[in-house]
Amino acid sequence: MVEPILKVEGLKTHFKLREGMLKAVDGISFSLAPDEVLCIVGESGSGKSVTAQSILRLIDPPGHIVEGHIRYRDKDLLALSEREMEKIRGDRIGMIFQDPMTSLNPVFTIGEQISEGLREHLDLKKNEAKSRAIELLRSVGIPHPEERYRDYPHHFSGGMRQRVLIAAAIACEPDILIADEPTTALDVTIQAQILKLLADVQKRLNSALILITHDLGVVASMADRVLVMYAGEMVEYGDVKTIFEDPKHPYTIGLMNSVIRLDDQRDDELRSIRGTPLVPINPPPGCSFRSRCDAALGVCESEKPRPSSVDGGHLVSCHLMRQGGAP
Ligand code: SF4
Repeated sequence: MVEPILKVEGLKTHFKLREGMLKAVDGISFSLAPDEVLCIVGESGSGKSVTAQSILRLIDPPGHIVEGHIRYRDKDLLALSEREMEKIRGDRIGMIFQDPMTSLNPVFTIGEQISEGLREHLDLKKNEAKSRAIELLRSVGIPHPEERYRDYPHHFSGGMRQRVLIAAAIACEPDILIADEPTTALDVTIQAQILKLLADVQKRLNSALILITHDLGVVASMADRVLVMYAGEMVEYGDVKTIFEDPKHPYTIGLMNSVIRLDDQRDDELRSIRGTPLVPINPPPGCSFRSRCDAALGVCESEKPRPSSVDGGHLVSCHLMRQGGAP
């Protein structure tokens, strides 16, 4: 059994809002093997991005990590000082955000921005950092990197900016890359190129990748394992084949029924999940999905389902599992 490079246990990140306590992430656990691609899926507001930000301890007040453990190799990330954490961020764990324009500083050239990280983390001299930055830009497909090094973010298209961000994220050859909806802000044709680049980079570095997405097509083509989130909780977790071929949680089944597949044999209509996602502010007891669930039982009103193992590493949080099966 391969030792996980990252282990998240019982992570809870809450935000104290005027309306009440937003339980953005409420008890997430998963592990990541050294070269594994984990896709975290779910609707907007399900806690995917907050999970990623929590791993890097990028949660600002009124948000707080209130419980749990995040272990990277032999380090408990929640116990590190801010200075120690800064060395992990960008060096051992690289992050690629949704919107490259807001992630890049508009007043510095992209060369300066990549070089700065290299000098800080790898202690390179100015010229060494510049050469390495140019190589990185070339490796992510930026044409004429020597000239583009001196350009500012607004001189780049959206897709090229995302390539720059990927170059910055891999500058120190991190063990883990976290990409939060990296193609959301891009045109469809560019999305495929960026995802291919991400997959190539992950293989080249032999790193682990946590990819946050709501696109099940992307999940099918890239994931080894899948974590499905709903209202801040993990509803299902397993290898990609199991999640696609034998989903157990009513929410995962609903997600699968709402996408078109090329091999579609279904004669019934595509179905969307009825109702709207629960915003987990002071969430009521019981299952967060019950107002949208056609299979709800009496117990779902009062008791929160805990993850239970269906088959090896396949975990499902649903009372139906105790009753002997899926709906
Ligand atoms: Fe539906 Fe109950 Fe399962 Fe929740 S626990 S998904 S309400 S059956």
